[in-house]
Amino acid sequence: AIKPLVAGNWKMNGLKASQAEFYKMVVGISDEVADTVDAMICAPSTLTALLAEKAGKGPPAIGGQDCHTAASGAHTGDISAEMLADAGASAVIVGHSERRTDHGESDAIVNAKAQAAWRAGLIAIICVGETEAERKAGNAVSIVEGQLNASIPDGATAENTVVAYEPVWAIGTGLTPTAADVAEMHKAMRVNLEGRLGSEGQAMRLLYGGSVKPANARELMSVDNVNGALVGGASLKADDLLGILAAY
Ligand code: 13P
Repeated sequence: AIKPLVAGNWKMNGLKASQAEFYKMVVGISDEVADTVDAMICAPSTLTALLAEKAGKGPPAIGGQDCHTAASGAHTGDISAEMLADAGASAVIVGHSERRTDHGESDAIVNAKAQAAWRAGLIAIICVGETEAERKAGNAVSIVEGQLNASIPDGATAENTVVAYEPVWAIGTGLTPTAADVAEMHKAMRVNLEGRLGSEGQAMRLLYGGSVKPANARELMSVDNVNGALVGGASLKADDLLGILAAY
């Protein structure tokens, strides 16, 4: 069976004082929960080292939210996968829709960032998802398949890659797709990844993200081919994050 992953994406939130809330997560994750589900917090990079130190061996594991394609160099304001690894991260999100929109990141860039993550020994959490207009036009599945094909590098394995399906219209809106729509998309993703990557695609974790909270986690997480969640707003509060983990 695939061990699920609940990853929190703090986005551009969190100050040094947030360590206290984070520590509630560290102490709140029981051994029983940790045996059943992996937990991770993808913190802003200013907090990566601090939280990694607070977490010790974890859980939660610590992730980054983006990385440059290069290991180092003249790239003002950017952060490399090697830097995140050095600060204690074990994973990094690449291709979040906010990066694709705010920073014009193409599938090709996301693909290169995923390879940079692997180079540094990090798990790449590769995000895909359709816009509201694309869903209304009936193109959600074909859009996501195109993103999978172009954003996931050859060489992806169930160990080095996690895929997160995040419909853009469900992020931060309180809206979620129906369980049937999530099932349809995750099945299509599984078929695509198995077709391309064989047993690695079969075992790869496919997360759902977009307005996940304790109240809807059980329903969303029990959908076939949903192997966890990528959680934004609800990952900022220990009670909410622990409530989502309790869905398992
Ligand atoms: P929300 O959970 O706040 O909708 O954010 C989802 C998300 O974008 C996680 O990466």
